[in-house]
Amino acid sequence: MLFCVLAMVIEAENMKYKDPKQKLSVRIKDLLKRMTLEEKIGQMTQIERKVASAEVMSKYFIGSLLSGGGSVPKPNATAEDWVNMVNDFQKGSLSTRLGIPMIYGIDAVHGHNNVYKATIFPHNVGLGVTRDPELMKRIGAATALEVRATGIPYAFSPCIAVCRNPRWGRCYESFSEDINIVRSMTEIIPGLQGDLPAGMSKGTPYVNGKTKVAGCAKHFVADGGTVNGLDENNTIVDSKGLFSIHMPAYYDSVIKGVATVMASYSSLNGDRMHANTHLLTGFLKKRLNFRGFVISDWEGIDRITNPANSNYTYSVEASINAGIDMVMVPNNYTDFIGNLTMLVNKNIVPMSRIDDAVKRILRVKFVMGLFEDPMGDLSLAKHLGSPEHREIAREAVRKSLVLLKNGKTPQQPLLPLPKKAAKILVAGTHAHNLGYQCGGWTILWQGVPHNNLTIGTTVLDAVKKTVDPATQVVFNEVPDSNFVQSSKFDYAVVVVGENTYAEMYGDSSNLTIPDPGPSVIQNVCGAVKCVVVIISGRPVVIEPYVEKMDAIVAAWLPGTEGQGIADVLFGDYGFTGKLARTWFKRVDQLPMNVGDPHYDPLFPFGFGLTTQAVNGNQKNMI
Ligand code: BGC
Repeated sequence: MLFCVLAMVIEAENMKYKDPKQKLSVRIKDLLKRMTLEEKIGQMTQIERKVASAEVMSKYFIGSLLSGGGSVPKPNATAEDWVNMVNDFQKGSLSTRLGIPMIYGIDAVHGHNNVYKATIFPHNVGLGVTRDPELMKRIGAATALEVRATGIPYAFSPCIAVCRNPRWGRCYESFSEDINIVRSMTEIIPGLQGDLPAGMSKGTPYVNGKTKVAGCAKHFVADGGTVNGLDENNTIVDSKGLFSIHMPAYYDSVIKGVATVMASYSSLNGDRMHANTHLLTGFLKKRLNFRGFVISDWEGIDRITNPANSNYTYSVEASINAGIDMVMVPNNYTDFIGNLTMLVNKNIVPMSRIDDAVKRILRVKFVMGLFEDPMGDLSLAKHLGSPEHREIAREAVRKSLVLLKNGKTPQQPLLPLPKKAAKILVAGTHAHNLGYQCGGWTILWQGVPHNNLTIGTTVLDAVKKTVDPATQVVFNEVPDSNFVQSSKFDYAVVVVGENTYAEMYGDSSNLTIPDPGPSVIQNVCGAVKCVVVIISGRPVVIEPYVEKMDAIVAAWLPGTEGQGIADVLFGDYGFTGKLARTWFKRVDQLPMNVGDPHYDPLFPFGFGLTTQAVNGNQKNMI
């Protein structure tokens, strides 16, 4: 008996990494010394769920999985489907010799946006307008709960790009052109991960247990400054610009304990960020003392070398030696593993670099409790798309709206609209289209441009719910002028805007409102008093129609809770939002940001008219 107990004590003493009472550094050291090169490289490998199985997880010791945009277990998968899928993969990882849990990551960039029925929050371009860090924290907390509800502990969020040119197809993923707004919005990080406990050393990744997720500040660095706003392109900026515009939000993220940082596809002054030793290792890890892990972007290391003359072995060498710790290598993972093994065996990538990468990955996994509690938990399923979270999203929508114009003269404001009227018109391609409202990165990578993608409220639904029951609401998506003129409407709500897009597919050289948006504005406004609500991921060209429109509201990409728009249009709440981006007149002015010498905007940064709440309630937010 005594012998047995003694043997168990010795075993426990030996397996220190399994003991949560041991110090973090002791656990990491103990586990690392037990690992083979194969197991270490496995930890550094993140693959797509479509090519994974429990067997693959255990055979290659895969450290992480991801769902790329729209990669779901099945269409309209439930929380239970997700949890079961993630847990099955996890079982594969836990069955290995050392039982190291894998970490599953997903792009939850405006709520848990790949998942049917999840609450979809406004994209960052709208959230920047709110200038409300406390709201950001609540959005982070709600997102974390919804992500955990599907068994996933890791979100590739927030994007802290400072978009300097709205021609960039990812501008809507950026909070603002202004670094101070982006910095304050990093409050989403403690929302996602939990508040860093007092006394914890700055730079230590921190994730507070089962209801929180590891976050990811991306894309390091200067992704929002590329030439002509071309995605994945080159940013030309001097040191002053880099450290005053693009870098500061990373200081905040690291100080707030962000668990991971993603490298950018873009180059900086001609050098690929995925191979930038100076900034990834020298600055982020050494200067800022970031002790979480750096993840590559999707096949990001492949793009270090010119595709026409690609040299994958060099890509692996350059990126790992530069400081990438985990490689998002969705498909050809055996290639990556083979190359890195060979490079380590030849000492081209030193073992010390591998150990550093693995330590960082293990640190995040230990800190977040994955060793003790690796499985998704179905009891959290109730949080997915919960009424409480939809309320937060609706509040965010209200606060993200910017009133650009209200009435032909200030003495004749059109808004707030009366709820009681004989007959009103709701028109436009975007009035009853949840897909447009949500934009890219929703259900599918490029978004879904129709109404049946998920659960939510369109502007039309919201108007109908808000007006007096006696008010007749007529909906016509693309009315011609005869239709408008032959009916007598008290006023019209016109909703037009951009199509859905993500990444390079959204790069635009003209930034016009796609057809038939302009003709809807032409046909309705002028014939009837109109408020035009613009659904877009960035400012678009509206100068030619400004005169025609009685009132203009920038609603950005508000997500599933369209009710927030009606709340403000009809005066249950006041307009409070101020532009977090410059609204240009013409694309030939771009890039044009606040403070630029040639600044000549249609509506300047910080602009936004206000209204008071009416309808006898005191819900005004001012
Ligand atoms: C994007 C990242 C994203 C990753 C994983 C890439 O194409 O640039 O922002 O996190 O895909 O889906």
